[in-house]
Amino acid sequence: MAARVIDGGKIARKKRDEAAAGAARLKARGITPCLGVILVGDDPASLSYVRGKERALEEAGMTGRDIRLPRDVTEEKLLGIIKELNADRLVHGILVQLPLPPHIREDRVITALDPAKDVDGFHPVSAGNLVLGRRGFLPCTPRGILALLEEMKIPTAGAHAVVVGRSNLVGRPLANLLTRRDLNATLTVCHTGTVDLGSYTRQGDILIAAAGKAGLITADMVKDGAVVIDVGVNRVPVPGGENAAAGAYRLRGDVDFEGVSKKASYITPVPGGVGPMTIAMLLLNLLRAAEDLCAPAPAP
Ligand code: NAP
Repeated sequence: MAARVIDGGKIARKKRDEAAAGAARLKARGITPCLGVILVGDDPASLSYVRGKERALEEAGMTGRDIRLPRDVTEEKLLGIIKELNADRLVHGILVQLPLPPHIREDRVITALDPAKDVDGFHPVSAGNLVLGRRGFLPCTPRGILALLEEMKIPTAGAHAVVVGRSNLVGRPLANLLTRRDLNATLTVCHTGTVDLGSYTRQGDILIAAAGKAGLITADMVKDGAVVIDVGVNRVPVPGGENAAAGAYRLRGDVDFEGVSKKASYITPVPGGVGPMTIAMLLLNLLRAAEDLCAPAPAP
């Protein structure tokens, strides 16, 4: 059986259109959703992510307040800028592009964000709300994965979901969300301490790979008819030739697409699966932040 390939680009387009429609409604009230984007240093991958986010904002009728800081900026200076953005009524969301240089404590920076502007969903208050099932910002990649499942009408209730990876960014929040009552999956979480990974992944009706290891999940590790979501984005050098010397690479997921797509019922490609959803969810989170922060005060 050949798996149906989930077109993340198409679903993300729909979500970006929803964000744009919401932004247009706010614009009619004189409000333009605005994201403060802080980038420290000039790491090419981070620069390219930030540019992608800025393009998406513009296309959705939102704006970005672009703040570029040198790599040697002090932690205190960065915290001061966050304080200003927290207080700025024209800024509705704040994104600090990670990773930060080693002399800056990521925890301290994230915790300094106003949780009402935490559109990345990384603040401890957002994480706590997620675990407790309260309203709050969901991190964009897990939210995007759930949106893919929903749009493809893939039921989670009663399914055995196996998540490979337990990072605060992807695996851990996803695991928490999947066991919420409204999603009702039964869950296994795997990590580097898991012995015999395949014995667990083979049990997954829904298998989500978020390990950051190219080709980790091979066909023999997948149950027949499983839904396979590949979160991994790994830069694999292109072997041989001049391009390789110049640093050429191609993107590969955590899943061996060719082998696994012969066995799964659904599969996400890399690129073009989960990746586009992450930016779309950022736009929807920013829209929510702007709506909440600009909500008319309740009548006395
Ligand atoms: P991370 O912080 O490095 O976490 C990786 C997780 O996978 C860890 O929990 C690690 O276990 C586990 N792991 C690593 N190798 C493993 C193995 N051989 N067997 C079992 N578990 C293993 O990475 P991340 O931030 O979660 O990102 C994961 C991948 O998703 C990366 O490729 C990243 O680029 C990609 N990503 C994509 C998007 C997107 O928008 N498409 C967004 C975010 C991340 P331990 O906890 O034991 O170390």
